[in-house]
Amino acid sequence: MAVRTGRFVPAPPSILLRNGVRLLVTPVTIPVDEAAVAQHLAEAVRFQTISTQDKAEFNGEAFRAFQAFLETTFPNVHATLKHERVGEYTLLYTWQGTDVSLKPILLMAHQDVVPADASTLNQWFHPPFDGIIADGYICGRGTLDDKGSLMAILEASESLIRDGFKPARTVYFSFGHDEELGGSNGAPKVAELLKSRGVALESVLDEGGMILDGIVPGVPCPVAAIGVAEKGYVSLELKVEGSGGHSSTPPKHTTLGILAKAITRIENNPFPASMTFAEPFFNNVGPRMPLTRRILFANMWAFRPLIKYILGNVPEMNASIRTTAAVTMASAGVKENILPSRATAIVNFRILTGDSVETVKTFARALINDDNVVLTPIGIPREPSPVSDTHSAAYARIERTLREVQGGKDIVFTPYLTLGATDGRNFCGIAENVYRFLALSADAQSIKSMHGVNERIAVSSYADLIRFYVQYLRNSGEDNVKDEG
Ligand SMILES: [Zn+2]
Repeated sequence: MAVRTGRFVPAPPSILLRNGVRLLVTPVTIPVDEAAVAQHLAEAVRFQTISTQDKAEFNGEAFRAFQAFLETTFPNVHATLKHERVGEYTLLYTWQGTDVSLKPILLMAHQDVVPADASTLNQWFHPPFDGIIADGYICGRGTLDDKGSLMAILEASESLIRDGFKPARTVYFSFGHDEELGGSNGAPKVAELLKSRGVALESVLDEGGMILDGIVPGVPCPVAAIGVAEKGYVSLELKVEGSGGHSSTPPKHTTLGILAKAITRIENNPFPASMTFAEPFFNNVGPRMPLTRRILFANMWAFRPLIKYILGNVPEMNASIRTTAAVTMASAGVKENILPSRATAIVNFRILTGDSVETVKTFARALINDDNVVLTPIGIPREPSPVSDTHSAAYARIERTLREVQGGKDIVFTPYLTLGATDGRNFCGIAENVYRFLALSADAQSIKSMHGVNERIAVSSYADLIRFYVQYLRNSGEDNVKDEG
């Protein structure tokens, strides 16, 4: 155990090639006009490309205006790349590569943003759609999620074209317009279109993980968490029907009582835990932890049950080790002295890799174990995504690029499970690998701000994100991390 713990220490910043050779990273310097790019992003924030649940509120004009702004702001991109609209408002760009033998890559971001809750407007330091630059930050809705990424991809491309760069690999950009609504009209249509054109992608890079700063307990350096999979999704309706009647002569259990028992069974019996994602995560971040925790994670073979127990008590960690169930809606009864003839509840399951919509139904049915409770899936269920390879050239490219632009700073890289859904999942069928990673530094506050108040991005972080995309595109043609033998 002591030997294992002793070996469980950080390695120097380098990239492990597939042939086993370690490549030391050479830092690169990429000039970015910070004032100009900050101004562009601030302008982008002012277009209220909001996704609201009510379809009638959709403001197509705002999307059209935003797209016209992109055309004038990035003239080289629009003169060089083929660009088309898919599903009316989603944008697809094609940057033809010089080497057709290389599989194309896809970079993704989304144009739409969540609304700013009217009841929280007074908490914003600057109005969410004013696009204010103050104290070294660009402030407003979408700066982090996800216009910052969209604008950074275009800034990077604009400057590369200006410098005469031509990608070896064909590069696609897909910028959805309805990601915050589940993305049914944008990204899936782009995936269908590319498939119909016979496109097979080497990799996809979408939002998801970030460079977590001070978020992983006990880890003093930033953690670049690369999303390699996302959970599935199904909501089950639980329904109990009875005869109703007067509440003065009730049966032993009303429909509501039977339903309550079913709900309690589901809540009290979590799905089995699996270390599929937690184990590689702790293998990577564990060496940076204080000794007591290092002992724990260096010897997972011995402490697995204890680790599962500890993780199971932290909602964010619990969600990454098991399929979760959340009782989200319920309805029963019409009057206080009438027996409810029908009681229903909705349970939303987020499905971990290894489980499926079918196994969730079977598990729930067995747990409830009561024929009075009828289970029906509602909405559109989704299976967990495939798991992307962490030994691919594309995964190594993300790591190499970030290390190069961060100038050899100490960063831990780790694959992880994305707990929310991304547009990227739609491309699993036509891409070898789909990675979910936004190369932006994020602390607990900025993560909370993404669908909350005071969303903002530091101008310096935004410039670094642009540098990341510049270098990522430069590195995309090279395959020097690919297996030679
Ligand atoms: Zn997003």
